[in-house]
Amino acid sequence: MSPRRARRRDDKGPPIGPPGRFGIGEVEEWPDGEWRVHRIVGGAADKVYRCPGCDQEIRTGTAHLVSWPNWSGGEGERRHWHTACWRNRLSRGPGRSRY
Ligand SMILES: [Zn+2]
Repeated sequence: MSPRRARRRDDKGPPIGPPGRFGIGEVEEWPDGEWRVHRIVGGAADKVYRCPGCDQEIRTGTAHLVSWPNWSGGEGERRHWHTACWRNRLSRGPGRSRY
C-alpha cells in the first residue's frame, strides 16, 4: 500500500512583480545596464516609430519591441526598436568609436 500524498500544485509560481501599464517587460542585462523589453506583436503596432538603431521607420504592423532603462526615471526613455536592431545595438553602433 502506498500512502497518497496530497498533490501540490507547484507548477504555477507566484505572480512576479506589479502589473504596469505596459504589462511586465522582461528584464535584459546589457553591458550598459538593465533594460526592460516589451515585445509588440505585429498586429498591435498601430503607429509608425523611428528605430534609433538604424534610423529607419518601423512600419505599422511590424513586430518590434519597446525598451526602456530599468532604473529610476527610465520609463520616460522608452524607445521602439526593430528586434534585430535592438539585439545588435551595441555591436554595430552608428559608427562612433568602434569599427
Ligand atoms: Zn532598426
